[in-house]
Amino acid sequence: MEKLLYINGSWTGDSLEKIEVFNPANGEVVGTVASCGKEETDAAIDAAHKAFPSWSKLTAYERADYLMKLHDLMIEQKEELAELMTLEMGKPLKESVGEVMYAASFIKWYAEEGKRIYGRTIPSSAENKRMQVLRQPVGVVAAITPWNFPAAMITRKLGPALAAGCTFIVKPPKETPLTAIKLVELADQAGFPKGVINLVTGSSSVIGKAIMDSEKVRKVTFTGSTEIGKKLIEQGAATVKNVSMELGGHAPAVVLEDADLNKAVAGIVASKFRNAGQTCICINRVYVQESVYEEFVERVAVEAKKLKVGNGLDEGTDIGPIINKDGYEKISEHVENAVSNGAECVTGGKGRADNGGYYYEPTVLKNVSQDMLIMNEETFGPVIPIHKISSVEEGIRLANTSPFGLAAYVYTESMSKGTQVVEGLDYGIIGWNDGVPSAAQAPFGGMKESGLGREGGVEGMEAYLETKYVSFVL
Ligand code: NAP
Repeated sequence: MEKLLYINGSWTGDSLEKIEVFNPANGEVVGTVASCGKEETDAAIDAAHKAFPSWSKLTAYERADYLMKLHDLMIEQKEELAELMTLEMGKPLKESVGEVMYAASFIKWYAEEGKRIYGRTIPSSAENKRMQVLRQPVGVVAAITPWNFPAAMITRKLGPALAAGCTFIVKPPKETPLTAIKLVELADQAGFPKGVINLVTGSSSVIGKAIMDSEKVRKVTFTGSTEIGKKLIEQGAATVKNVSMELGGHAPAVVLEDADLNKAVAGIVASKFRNAGQTCICINRVYVQESVYEEFVERVAVEAKKLKVGNGLDEGTDIGPIINKDGYEKISEHVENAVSNGAECVTGGKGRADNGGYYYEPTVLKNVSQDMLIMNEETFGPVIPIHKISSVEEGIRLANTSPFGLAAYVYTESMSKGTQVVEGLDYGIIGWNDGVPSAAQAPFGGMKESGLGREGGVEGMEAYLETKYVSFVL
């Protein structure tokens, strides 16, 4: 049986219409998946619903054993997973291996954390009363995930949901369903009871609606664009759906005059150019204090020029292809808009459509202004616009000029100025002299239009738990 849909512990979907999956490096077809509809989605929901009572009754120790088997299989097969990820998503192979390790770290951390889901007792005001707070799994969880981190955006949800005792349905994006299928294949090998994990692929609006309308689905965890996140929140109103939303970002970095420029250049280059800039927390705009502005621009440009653009499977590639034509056109539009409004392109500034793939050079722009498109919208490409600021206060003010509030960065060696910036920024994640702040044990998520709730850390487990208060009269 071809591995297409995974429902109630069986691979199915052979008779359904198929959708092709493309390699963004050259446009070649790398696989096909099933296009399922409401019927199959409902079957996956039913399977998860049926599996919930027995899965939630296992001890956290038993659930951890299953999760650790999945973790170990991911590590054992990290090369296969990584190659598949590069093939359908484009990121350089070394980054794909890094993502598999990062993805596996969520499974391991939550396998352990499931053993520490504590309730509490409350001192009663009446002698004959006992007050208790229980934490219980929310129930069936549906996860809708994006293409930019094909494995980690699944495991960041799957790990805590299963550890908490929930059962799970995943709908991966059309661009990267093969990594998701491979992950579910490993879960199948790990021996999870049938119905605990289910996978559906196909039309996102049909599957999304079936999920949002279902009374059996108690929690929807979404990572993707703010536009789709808003739609899902609206759709979920009818069933008062418990939702977690990991949405778009537009991360600023503030570099102060007392920054260690070695740290600032290395951190900002790492943050911006990894995954070709297609990362929700990657720096989209940089504000640099005037006394170090020219030196900073020059040094970032030197580093950007060293990066090699190409097929992610080729040895030595630092920047892979852009996911698709739309993504490429958005990057080009942002750069053209900046340059036509007076920005200077220090390096890069050009893309190429090459043999079915879309590539963009690492680009550094100076003399940008706050009204340019790139300073107000997520670019999702390898472009760094650098804006001059005269004070700490101006940096904070401009950084906060956005409806988004996911990640922000500050570079300074001063404790007091750094603290002032950290406390002044309206963002859920702050990297202080750190361009790569995410980790399984830390809360990840945004303020404002960047989302609702957190993933990772103890907060990431909260998302899958209900609170039940019991008042008992003796
Ligand atoms: P997207 O277009 O919003 O798609 C995300 C997921 O939603 C995909 O699985 C997509 O499926 C599905 N979808 C699309 N329309 C839907 C609908 N009407 N109903 C239900 N599901 C629907 O986002 P993307 O382009 O894949 O990802 C990039 C975005 O994700 C960026 O904005 C980025 O900042 C954000 N992101 C945020 C985080 C975070 O943690 N905050 C992490 C990573 C990415 P199909 O592809 O099959 O249509």
